[in-house]
Amino acid sequence: MGICDGILTSAVQAATESGASRIERIEVSIGELTEVMDDALRFAFEALKEGTMAEGAELVVHYVEARSQCTECGAVFRHDRFDPKCPECGSYVITLVQGRELRIDAIDVE
Ligand SMILES: [Zn+2]
Repeated sequence: MGICDGILTSAVQAATESGASRIERIEVSIGELTEVMDDALRFAFEALKEGTMAEGAELVVHYVEARSQCTECGAVFRHDRFDPKCPECGSYVITLVQGRELRIDAIDVE
């Protein structure tokens, strides 16, 4: 589970740099289009955090819905992975506004 490994590694690194001894909570934002599965992410987190300074940490995940802007009419709309079509004018010429993010929002340490 590379994504979870990356989150955990970054969190531990940031916590270490700030002189913390323990991570209590990690908050992340994950876009719908990243295809990260919630169950798989949590399972990996539970397994990977063992033996690290994040061993007792809670993982809080904020999912970011997919939104795009139509380049034809300018409408911003929510859509799923399979139907990125403008509901206003029917165009498929769109620019993704959000939905692919994968970032750590906050790390609570002790
Ligand atoms: Zn449109």
